[in-house]
Amino acid sequence: MTEKLFYQDVYIHEFEAEIEKNGIDEQGSPYLVLNQTAFYPTGGGQPFDQGTLNGAQVQEVEEVEGEIRHYTDLKATGSVKGEIDWERRFDHMQQHAGQHILSAVFENKFDAKTISFHLGQEVCSIDLEVESLTEETVLQAEEAANLVILENRPIETKWVTYEELSQYPLRKAVSVKEDIRLVIIPDIDYNGCGGTHPGSTGEVAALNILHTEKQKGNIRVYFVCGHRVRKQLDEKHLVVQSLTARLSAPQDQLPQAADRLLEQVRDLEKEKEELKKQLAELRADGYLSTSNHVIKEIFHDQEIADIQHLAKNITLKADDRIVLFVNETDDKLQVICARGNSVDMNMNLPLKKVLSLINGRGGGKPDFVQGGGEKLMTAEELLRHLEAEL
Ligand SMILES: [Zn+2]
Repeated sequence: MTEKLFYQDVYIHEFEAEIEKNGIDEQGSPYLVLNQTAFYPTGGGQPFDQGTLNGAQVQEVEEVEGEIRHYTDLKATGSVKGEIDWERRFDHMQQHAGQHILSAVFENKFDAKTISFHLGQEVCSIDLEVESLTEETVLQAEEAANLVILENRPIETKWVTYEELSQYPLRKAVSVKEDIRLVIIPDIDYNGCGGTHPGSTGEVAALNILHTEKQKGNIRVYFVCGHRVRKQLDEKHLVVQSLTARLSAPQDQLPQAADRLLEQVRDLEKEKEELKKQLAELRADGYLSTSNHVIKEIFHDQEIADIQHLAKNITLKADDRIVLFVNETDDKLQVICARGNSVDMNMNLPLKKVLSLINGRGGGKPDFVQGGGEKLMTAEELLRHLEAEL
């Protein structure tokens, strides 16, 4: 059995050990087993430690069938020098202890029991067994948790027997029968836990609740502790700074400034639609100012809806005209054929003829058809074919 140095002293981050086994797991990954280690393996919601053994990277640490496996490419025998990535571990200790405090506060003050905990790379979360949580409760819980941190209470660990458990007001029934480890913040929290925590609540430094969301009938509370609070603050500050500059508004007036901008966008959108309609009318008038019976035009990369609108406008205004429009895009040719009510012609006939030349598809009512196909000829050639079919 590997001696777990993180249970002797959680602050050990350099150590010497003897290699007891060079193993290869089921997936073919090599690992080392040591006689003692400060590397914490994944467990109790806390991710594994990283670091080095004789300078070689330890990618992952897992406890499998009582064996603590240090996954590394290092090939060695005899003694080895281990160093854990302390920044990563201390961050985990801050998040984990912060979770104990937050869960205790929610349960002690608001009767909201924690049913699960997730320690993520960026943020942590707990799921509370409640259907809803007011904003005020969230703020009060955050304040109470930070008070526990500020009071710098001790965080103690204790190995107890199953029989001794009844002496402690445990938050949750312990699932193991032996090697029971309690993590205790006197008067506040009594928990069976195998994770790593700092020696006092003050080292958690700060706790910030980010947001909450409904999760399968429970409420998930997202939070960060320690250095992550400052990191979040820095990130948010950057966003706020760039927005205050862009919107020319101080921080507290950013929401109103954004609302004003969105309202402007909606107004402009409406105005644009109105202008487009007017433009289509004017363009129709432009085409009709000539006495041509057939009105033809080639467009490039136009919105097909705009051209449809234009063709309809023309044939409505003058019922003796025929409209032939071709729109050319990067790889397609689109065709619109329309006629006024007094012209006796099924526009499907010329359309089908030219679409067959460009592997196209389309159709419509006798007075208005549209289609499109591949760019197998120029728009001018297609228009000539179309005209020839009338
Ligand atoms: Zn814990």
